[in-house]
Amino acid sequence: MLDGLNPQQRDAVVHEGTPLLIVAGAGSGKTRVLTHRIAYLLSERHVQPQEILAITFTNKAAKEMKERVDRLIGPRSKAMWVMTFHSACVRILRREAKRLGFSSSFSIYDQADSQRLMAMVCRELDLDPKRYPPRSFSAQVSNLKNELVDYDTAKDKAQTHLERTLAEAYRSYQRRLTEADAMDFDDLIMLTVTLFQLFPDVAEHYRRRFRHVMVDEYQDTNHAQYMLIRELVGVPEARTADGEPVREGREGAVEPAELCVVGDADQSIYAFRGATIRNILEFERDYPDARTILLEQNYRSTQTILSAANAVIARNEGRKPKNLWSDQGAGPKIIGYVADNEHDEAMFVAQEVDRLADDEDVTPGQVAVFYRTNAASRVFEEIFIRTGLPYKVVGGVRFYERKEVRDLLAYLRVLANPNDTVSLRRVINVPKRGIGDRAEAMIEAFALRERVSFWEGLRRADEAPGLATRSLNAIKEFVALLEDLRGKELPLSELAEEVLTSTGYRTELETSGDPQDESRLENLNELISVAQEFEEANPEGTLVDFLEQVSLVADADQIPEGEDHQGVVTLMTLHTAKGLEFPVVFLTGLEDGVFPHMRSLGEPRELEEERRLAYVGITRAQQRLYVSRAAVRSSWGSPAFNPASRFLAEVPSDLLDWRSDPQKTAWAAATVREPRRPAAPAKTGGRVIPSLSPGDRVTHDTFGLGTVVAVEGAAEKTRVKIDFGSGDEKTLLVAYAPIEKL
Ligand code: ATP
Ligand code: MG
Repeated sequence: MLDGLNPQQRDAVVHEGTPLLIVAGAGSGKTRVLTHRIAYLLSERHVQPQEILAITFTNKAAKEMKERVDRLIGPRSKAMWVMTFHSACVRILRREAKRLGFSSSFSIYDQADSQRLMAMVCRELDLDPKRYPPRSFSAQVSNLKNELVDYDTAKDKAQTHLERTLAEAYRSYQRRLTEADAMDFDDLIMLTVTLFQLFPDVAEHYRRRFRHVMVDEYQDTNHAQYMLIRELVGVPEARTADGEPVREGREGAVEPAELCVVGDADQSIYAFRGATIRNILEFERDYPDARTILLEQNYRSTQTILSAANAVIARNEGRKPKNLWSDQGAGPKIIGYVADNEHDEAMFVAQEVDRLADDEDVTPGQVAVFYRTNAASRVFEEIFIRTGLPYKVVGGVRFYERKEVRDLLAYLRVLANPNDTVSLRRVINVPKRGIGDRAEAMIEAFALRERVSFWEGLRRADEAPGLATRSLNAIKEFVALLEDLRGKELPLSELAEEVLTSTGYRTELETSGDPQDESRLENLNELISVAQEFEEANPEGTLVDFLEQVSLVADADQIPEGEDHQGVVTLMTLHTAKGLEFPVVFLTGLEDGVFPHMRSLGEPRELEEERRLAYVGITRAQQRLYVSRAAVRSSWGSPAFNPASRFLAEVPSDLLDWRSDPQKTAWAAATVREPRRPAAPAKTGGRVIPSLSPGDRVTHDTFGLGTVVAVEGAAEKTRVKIDFGSGDEKTLLVAYAPIEKL
């Protein structure tokens, strides 16, 4: 268990009793220590698997950690809880939901659902959406929850009219959630904390169970997560968001669990989600008997890469200096490249990946390309497709955000939880069944008056005044349909299939004559395959379990599995790259205004966060690092001449080799500017009209790569709105536009 660890790492693995903080720079083996510590607890200290709770940042990281533990000591990881904060909280809440007035099959609302709900609330409160944008309210409520501020407190603290309005919206929003038997992502954490605080017996149950609590990436925990850990571990004095100690007087109930957290203040990159490095900086103050272990040897990167990272992060103020070193030798210099434009930049990457494959046996699976924002992926995709380089984009427009996928999931959610009003109202007239907006509004008013759920309102539609007979009949049929589906005892995938059939959803798509409906059907079939896979992997799994898994999918969970990442280049944002490592890394878009992000330019604190992001990016690289920028980049449809990123100047110049490739211009001209096919009007060639739906990727002969935002009309009249990058949206007639679906 202790093989392959240095003395400090070993200390950390065997440390017993008091809380343990491991603070160390990137690649120093923090995650490895956690894995070995778990294995050591199980095999040497005879801890039972169910006594272990380890929190990781993604589901994928959790899976990997379990697999590694199994490899170290044999298959014992099953009863262990290795998971994200959200997954752990859902598990706890499902068991205890009744105490908080929820059922154990409560729904989980993602960001889109909760924005929808907030929009309903704002309408109900008659708020002018221009002055009080629901999205902004939704974000602010999320921030409050991350600070564990409930609506009463928000109201008490409110000073301005806006803050009072927000508190009121927060209150109605929360009431609506409870009525819908639903929790949003932030509630999952906050309500678990509330649960522990309101019900000492529940807290004690989990404290008895989890004798070992471990947290990876501790620097990115927010206040609510911090409190959750405090509650779980059972340390009596916790503090509020303002730093005031909260005395709970629960000393002596259960011995505090052993806590071990690992993190790196320099890698804190989620301040915008309420993460606070205060949690790491003040750990020692919060846990006076804590031991701190520093790890200083980096095992991931060459000294060149490490020195660059150290030099960049050293510019941040108020941080503890670190002495990270590597014995892997200097390795090749960092290669810098100034591209003519973003196409040229992507071309350089593609060309270099090819060259590495030829000259150095580097496979595409060993390469990662990072960028600051999701939108930047498009140009890379375009060039990679043209040059035949296999790749996978992680994050961005997601399968689960497509309309038809959300529709089917909404049906399933309504079946699992009839009170899930957001889902119910989403599908009430999908496909069209004659329940119009007016009828819906009448039911809503009736339900409100009778103080029953929207679903109850539908069931009692007979009593609702003023409904037209046609609407009433349609509502009755809808209710009967759902009740019938709910009564069916079918395996998950068959139930999903049955929903599509009995609601007429499938028939509508099949007979619409609208070409984009074909790809909608494909997506629905894909969702049914997901359900089938789930059934196979979880023979005991319920509908609620399935919905839960689907709602907790994160960007990073899409990274191709395995050491070789299935042989494809991985493209992702810097935020998603946290915790990962790749032999070859391309850090792109190093321009002031791109990275660091425009928003951060005049803001010292945000700039420091951008610099930490740069530090994260650089330290993902094991052997080779490339940094690139474009002299011109199209931004909002017009060219932007951004100056070089200040982070480039912060890399010592002797570590950097600026590449200027004499063949570059010729190569780029030959490959980029030559059209793939003549841009003749499409109809002359009797060309097949591509069937498109929102989220699809397309290339356009002139505008390049884009994402379909909306589709309207049918057959030759189909018009698509395509986003060609940073808000550059164009509406085109599919039949005539030189576009190709990817
Ligand atoms: P990050 O801050 O990026 O999350 P980390 O501190 O968690 O990094 P790990 O991912 O655990 O670092 O380790 C980085 C790499 O170094 C991994 O490939 C790991 O297997 C390797 N490594 C760590 N410790 C040792 C060691 N003692 N001997 C050999 N390899 C090691
Ligand atoms: Mg790690």
